Amino acid sequence: MIKFNNVSKRYADGTLAVESLNFEINQGEFFVIIGPSGCGKTTTLKMINRLIPLSDGTIFIKDKKISEYDIHELRWNIGYVLQQIALFPHMTIEENISVVPEMKKWNRDTMRQRARELMEMVGLEPETYLDRKPSELSGGQQQRVGVIRALAADPEIILMDEPFSALDPISREKIQDDMMDLKRNLKKTTVFVTHDMQEALKLADRICIMRDGKVVQIGTPQELVTNPANDFVEEFVGSKYRNGIPTIDLEELLQPLNETESSIVVPVSTSWKEILELLSEHEQLVVDKTGERIGMINRRSVIQYLSTNLQDRGIANE
Ligand code: ADP
Repeated sequence: MIKFNNVSKRYADGTLAVESLNFEINQGEFFVIIGPSGCGKTTTLKMINRLIPLSDGTIFIKDKKISEYDIHELRWNIGYVLQQIALFPHMTIEENISVVPEMKKWNRDTMRQRARELMEMVGLEPETYLDRKPSELSGGQQQRVGVIRALAADPEIILMDEPFSALDPISREKIQDDMMDLKRNLKKTTVFVTHDMQEALKLADRICIMRDGKVVQIGTPQELVTNPANDFVEEFVGSKYRNGIPTIDLEELLQPLNETESSIVVPVSTSWKEILELLSEHEQLVVDKTGERIGMINRRSVIQYLSTNLQDRGIANE
């Protein structure tokens, strides 16, 4: 869907911000770019919608070079969400949401209906909020409007640059949960920049770890945790600590039993390391405690557990 072919960017002052990027983001994928500050995440993102011109290489969207798209067509078909809430302060929420549909000359009824439907998707009562100005909403609510505004004209691609990092932890978690729902329901191709590993583990289909303008590893959350390409990834993902997580209490992670014939059964005392290894091959495991099958654990619940554990240890962020 979005293909980077040997893409490099050198700024006018000589800074080589990204070098020889080669990867492809699949249709409908939630692709998270993560890495320390200054590693080239934002540059990579902004080259996709031509906010930053490439110095070398090519980016294709659906097999067509981005340079060959009409710039308006390109931008309208790519939703963009920034960290700073960028709603127009003098417009109502409804007017803000309808900016791109209006430019695309949608008819009034379709726009009205779309605004209502999107507000409901993120839990904001349309009748209460659509007529308000942005300043009459909380930061978390404004950012939710920022997200749905990017979705309003039904773009095929969404770019998000640290969209939740300015929010307090509670609003942030809430909007991440909304994002999970939107992801499930809309299946948009999304490129999401963050420096927060917990957020990446929670949302990503695949994570791209960058360092000094280069890609270090691309993989599913599971692959990065179980098979880090090098020490940098291992440290960044926090998996160095995986053997050090004192007692992974499998009982905390149990899901209801839902065995299939091929289910692997593990004792409740199995080490964290072994669990991760098994989960790299099996989607879920049955947990046995003294001869009784007490539930299942799956990749998702273990990754969640791991990311929460990292956060508690204060090592999830840069
Ligand atoms: P990140 O988003 O990972 O923090 P950026 O893509 O913003 O990284 O920046 C990558 C590198 O390019 C950094 O060294 C940054 O200082 C540099 N950079 C970013 N924008 C410019 C610019 N307009 N001119 C010169 N250097 C820049």
